[in-house]
Amino acid sequence: MSQPSQPSQPSQRRTIIEPFRIKSVEPLALTTRPQREGFLAAARYNPFLLRADQVLIDLLTDSGTGAMSAAQWAAIMLGDESYAGSRSFFHLETKVRELTGKKHVIPTHQGRAAEHILFQVVNREGMVVPANSHFDTTRANCEVLGGLALDLLPLASLDPSDNGLFKGDIDIEKLERVLVEYGDRVPFVLMTVTNNKAGGQPVSLANLHAVRALCDRFGLPLYLDAARFAENAWLIKEREVGQGERTARDIAHEMFALCDGFTLSAKKDGLVNIGGLLCIDNDDWADTARSMLILTEGFPTYGGLAGRDLEALAVGLEEILDEDYLRYRIASIRYLFEKLDAIGVPMMRPPGGHAVFIDAGAFYPHIPAWQYPGMALTNELYLEGGVRAVEIGTVMFGHPDPAGGHDHCADLELVRLAFPRRTYTQSHVDYLVEVIESVWQRREFARGYRITSQKQVLRAFTAQFDQV
Ligand SMILES: *Cc1c(COP(=O)(O)O)cnc(C)c1O
Repeated sequence: MSQPSQPSQPSQRRTIIEPFRIKSVEPLALTTRPQREGFLAAARYNPFLLRADQVLIDLLTDSGTGAMSAAQWAAIMLGDESYAGSRSFFHLETKVRELTGKKHVIPTHQGRAAEHILFQVVNREGMVVPANSHFDTTRANCEVLGGLALDLLPLASLDPSDNGLFKGDIDIEKLERVLVEYGDRVPFVLMTVTNNKAGGQPVSLANLHAVRALCDRFGLPLYLDAARFAENAWLIKEREVGQGERTARDIAHEMFALCDGFTLSAKKDGLVNIGGLLCIDNDDWADTARSMLILTEGFPTYGGLAGRDLEALAVGLEEILDEDYLRYRIASIRYLFEKLDAIGVPMMRPPGGHAVFIDAGAFYPHIPAWQYPGMALTNELYLEGGVRAVEIGTVMFGHPDPAGGHDHCADLELVRLAFPRRTYTQSHVDYLVEVIESVWQRREFARGYRITSQKQVLRAFTAQFDQV
């Protein structure tokens, strides 16, 4: 007789395992602390300037850094490299239409190329684009055309200690005010799922429905920045009332049905190393987009990608909605979060989709924002264990004071640990916890940094530092 208390499926056990095994391995560089001290000094204390083979666990980004499956590598060999009318394009188009219901499927070399084209298509005098929040390339592509990119998150969503379940939701009242105020200057409303900026936080279906209703009232299209659509769908399944019994695919389908089009960086939930999509229902917009595509990306049936890339993406979009994968993916982020929480490490709450964000300002309260506590923590993580994270604080979003005083500082000093998909195992995460715990125990000895050299734009990528 079976005992009812025995879990019958792997997913019901306490340990959520990686739902894959490893067929091809890539060695990691084990370095010593004195070596890392030398590497970091040579990189002028900016981990962006390290060589990747000086890094043991690379959590700089989850973009294009994941592992492809055996099925994707097999699909690579099936790529049709015809210039026009490639079979691989039609394969991808069918998959994307099945999943999203969108009429026009336009491949691009990555997400920002899709954004660039979309903003050019809709560009108008005094353009204003409201969003829950714009990803940095999205904002830049809007602003470079003279547009105003408005982020409309409720205040609580920017508070790291707030435990809201859908901190990616847009503030509907703020959105309504913006639509009334700017009228025809708004070409569409944009929703980023999940919301990268607020910590990989999901947007609820209820919020998407409310935005849709407002867009209908104002006669406006709704677009998604769908880079992490599958993680968002899974978090809706886990967190939103009444959604627990649905499949992630079904929820994703509803998210896409609510919008009129989307841009997508395939380097995230496309499970590929390069690629993007621009999908549009409106025939006229799609016509204009294709003309621009030919100018900068390529013919509409390949858009800056090889036929094999299109094949790998078609398979990736199928695999990403596998529920065993999604359960493991979200559980692995939560696993790290809970271990660090137990130690007392201050973090952006609750755990989200693709990354853990440490609140470096609270981690190092003795280091002022203008001495970059996030940089201090990022560098300590590298020196302690060869871990590469990224500062998302004043180095990234602050500005030098033209009068020569302290920097104009960011609202939050965060350090992001972003997880490449299907790449690291639980023992890597256990090692990471050990590294962070050592850094946490010696936190009062950490010192801040000053910038010795920086560029006008996007200084985080190339700035050079010294310890103060
Ligand atoms: C990565 C990303 C982009 C830009 O895509 P790229 O493929 O890097 O050009 C846009 N929006 C979001 C939310 C992203 O995460």
